[in-house]
Amino acid sequence: MTSAPENEFIPYSTQCIDSNDVDAVVRVLRDDFLTQGPKIDEFEDALKDYFKVKHCVVANSATSALHMSCVALGLGPGDLVLTSPNSFVSSATTSLFCGAEIDFVDICPQTLNMDMDRLEEKLSFLAKKGRLPDVVIPVHFGGLPCDMVKLSALRARYNFKIIEDASHAMGASGPGFFVGDTRFSDLTVFSFHPVKMITTGEGGAVTTNSDALAEKIKLLRSHGITRDPLAFINESPGQWYYEQKILGFNYRLTDIQAALGISQLGKINNFVSARNEIAERYKSAFKKLNLVVQNVPAGLKSSYHLFVIVLDASSENSRKSLFDHLKTERIGVNVHYIPIHTQPFFQSIGFSWGDFPVAEDIYQRCLSIPIFPHLNCKMQDRVIKSICNFFEV
Ligand SMILES: *Cc1c(COP(=O)(O)O)cnc(C)c1O
Repeated sequence: MTSAPENEFIPYSTQCIDSNDVDAVVRVLRDDFLTQGPKIDEFEDALKDYFKVKHCVVANSATSALHMSCVALGLGPGDLVLTSPNSFVSSATTSLFCGAEIDFVDICPQTLNMDMDRLEEKLSFLAKKGRLPDVVIPVHFGGLPCDMVKLSALRARYNFKIIEDASHAMGASGPGFFVGDTRFSDLTVFSFHPVKMITTGEGGAVTTNSDALAEKIKLLRSHGITRDPLAFINESPGQWYYEQKILGFNYRLTDIQAALGISQLGKINNFVSARNEIAERYKSAFKKLNLVVQNVPAGLKSSYHLFVIVLDASSENSRKSLFDHLKTERIGVNVHYIPIHTQPFFQSIGFSWGDFPVAEDIYQRCLSIPIFPHLNCKMQDRVIKSICNFFEV
């Protein structure tokens, strides 16, 4: 590899594609199936082995996988879902697609994940009102798992379903669980968008140990149509016959994408450890600076989809100036997240600034800096130096 020129643009994240990935895709293009074919089964089987889970259904995005998960759990008008405001909009919009109502639980300023103490308060308040949530969607922000042990204790008490939005967290784990094994949830959703842990261009997956949920989601993925004679309601008049049994979507992944996914999955352990090494280097380099990073509680392992720094509250405009400073130094940065409830759409359905003050405060001060598997030491040193220069240390 040639060394990067001094001012080469460093993105905050980017896909990591090698010639094996390219070859895998090209082989499918020369084969018989382009859309859902044998590569889909092969990818799903490989994901099941990786997550150690009974079922995995791939889809054309995590948003689709979340939507199907909500439908499969039976969400509809009159139902209530709770999620984190510190996430991408899909964590919340997919419940609305089903006609359910969405509400949020503020985050913990150290982990940036849903604050389980606040969830507990909210549940006891909702129980008094006689309006408990039907589903809770925890989001493993940046790849750091939520406190699933506490969440599952709350589930035992208040009886709701759990969909983990693990779009960031492939390869993460916690006490007694590996994200994706659904040890403490009904369904777990992943994203294969280019900046996520592995990519299929666009794509997503949902894992579950429930036969019924997996079967329902497979049906939903392809128009609610089955070609399996054993699943027919009516007697088959001939081999052309198929049945649309429920109202479904076209949320299929293609074989082209699945081939890329299989090839990418072979590198997931390297991707996760590379990201963890980068995170450790950042952490030691920033010890002397007046900023905080996401706290990883003992027993948890982050996949480090994101590396987020949170600037000190005393310097109000410094996040924007640091953002601009790094951009002029040709270093890509991003902000995760604009709290979902502050989006114009969510304001139009009744949310306001001030509803979830911790997420709003963190939003004003956070910055996601470059992290991806092939970010080498030289590039990372440029990022560290630019940030230290900004703070003049
Ligand atoms: C990326 C992302 C999604 C949506 O993923 P797509 O595959 O782009 O639909 C959902 N939730 C979170 C937390 C995400 O980061």
